Amino acid sequence: MNVLQVPDPGLKIVCKPVLTLDLEALKRIVEMFEEIKKPSPSSRGGPRGIGLAATQVGWDARLFVMNTALTPQGERLYVNPEVTWSSKEQSVGLEGCLSVPGADVLVSRSRWIRAKAQALTGFKIRTAVDSGLLALDLSVTETQMSGIDARCFQHELDHLQGITILDRGKPVRPGPAN
Ligand SMILES: [Zn+2]
Repeated sequence: MNVLQVPDPGLKIVCKPVLTLDLEALKRIVEMFEEIKKPSPSSRGGPRGIGLAATQVGWDARLFVMNTALTPQGERLYVNPEVTWSSKEQSVGLEGCLSVPGADVLVSRSRWIRAKAQALTGFKIRTAVDSGLLALDLSVTETQMSGIDARCFQHELDHLQGITILDRGKPVRPGPAN
């Protein structure tokens, strides 16, 4: 799977809402889960990432995958995500991005958010792909998030608006684009 890197203009698009998820779309989503699980090329070890937005793989769709728990049970897809409330209290943290390789950026984000989306587990998606059946419940859920979940959700939502961490701050370690 090809992940776009800055300054690719594809990273600047504002993605369109998702109306349906067909089998082809679900297969792509499974590939996105696989992409972030790949080992990190850096000395930090561990998986490459904890989130990936459709924008980053050249797909004009308002959806992203997250796996902050780094477990198979932690795989989540968020379709048509929104932040419905965010705390005034901010937290500053280092963020990396598969589209900005080698660079870490200090980004200030809301410490708590309420997030609304059509959320699905990776397990349900993989089961649907394996069986070729698309009996997926795409009802909207709203959840409160904090910590790494809130940070990752806001980072990925930024991607769907054409915003990367380089629009949020200066790299602590410069990436190849700089
Ligand atoms: Zn990113």
